[in-house]
Amino acid sequence: MHGSVERALGVHRVLEPAGALPQAARRLDADPVVGPDEVRIAVRRLTLDAASFRQLAESCGGDGEAVRAAVLDIIATRGKMQNPVTGSGGMLIGVVDAVGPESPLGLAVGDRVATLVSLTLTPLLIADGLARWDGRSEQVPAEGTAILFGRSIAAVLPDDLPDAVSLAVLDVCGAPAATARVVERAGARSVTVLGAAGKSGSLSLAAARRAGASNLTGLVRNAAEAAALAAAGLADRVVIADATDPLAVAAAVGTPADVTIVCVDVPGAEHGAVLATVDGGIVVFFSMATSFSAAALGAEGMAADVTMLVGNGYTPGHAALALELYRSDHGVRALIDPRVTT
Ligand code: NAP
Repeated sequence: MHGSVERALGVHRVLEPAGALPQAARRLDADPVVGPDEVRIAVRRLTLDAASFRQLAESCGGDGEAVRAAVLDIIATRGKMQNPVTGSGGMLIGVVDAVGPESPLGLAVGDRVATLVSLTLTPLLIADGLARWDGRSEQVPAEGTAILFGRSIAAVLPDDLPDAVSLAVLDVCGAPAATARVVERAGARSVTVLGAAGKSGSLSLAAARRAGASNLTGLVRNAAEAAALAAAGLADRVVIADATDPLAVAAAVGTPADVTIVCVDVPGAEHGAVLATVDGGIVVFFSMATSFSAAALGAEGMAADVTMLVGNGYTPGHAALALELYRSDHGVRALIDPRVTT
């Protein structure tokens, strides 16, 4: 029998290895029958984490059918959507359809919600074979069930935005919240964002501005993204470089920034981020494609005195801040909307 703290963390749903928490587990029990402290969601749509989707698409040579089969296989095997290569997941939206009598989440049957905990720890059962998905987009129309634990978090979906937009914004809502917190606490003036024209990148630039930074650089990988970012007006300066080429990043950025936020969805951006940051500055690795060893050993090897933070997906108030930035900043909308299929 598991105690109430263990149950709230979802330990009772771990099939293997024994003793692991759900996020680290190889396999979860996705049985749709809810326990007394659980909530069941009728799933409507998943969003796959950008790093995970890119890895799957590249490893399947862009074959959508193969990507769909790979995602179905991962979920069936693991009882959750956790890409075994990137280790990352994503999140989902759906409708609450069962609430255990002891659930502390305050949700009611019929609530339309987005889960703000990762798919990597959410028991998930797919019932429709993902038949309405062509395997070519991060967002996945889906029918099935997901389980929330006592310590999970979920947000009721706003009525004024398309669900697909809310899903895309909430998936990366940890990035603007982390950016705002770091800029405010450090009193940072200059901020560089790598992958600045993407979803988390655009929100992070807007959050940095709101938090008081006055010198914002957005690094993008090509002229098309540079034009889009410049038109959005979120950065004071737009530079083009491959974020995985450290010397090119350093040359493009020029004077290092107080804070660098890594929002690309590819591996290999660690060293460029360190070089782009002033001595005594801060790097926030929001990207799930980040290597802890590459970041730590790379900084050591460059004798770079930077503080490196892992972008925790959770910060109090993160969902409300991201949705508010999306609603109020036309530049954020201009960059996010084309990436979302509604
Ligand atoms: P996104 O919208 O796809 O944005 C990523 C951006 O990076 C795109 O503009 C992309 O350009 C650009 N990029 C890719 N390779 C690049 C390179 N070599 N040089 C420069 N730019 C490059 O992704 P997102 O949804 O914002 O997610 C960004 C990262 O956040 C992902 O790694 C994801 O895993 C991570 N994430 C973290 C959390 C957390 O809790 N920490 C939660 C969700 C997501 P193209 O579009 O041209 O490829």
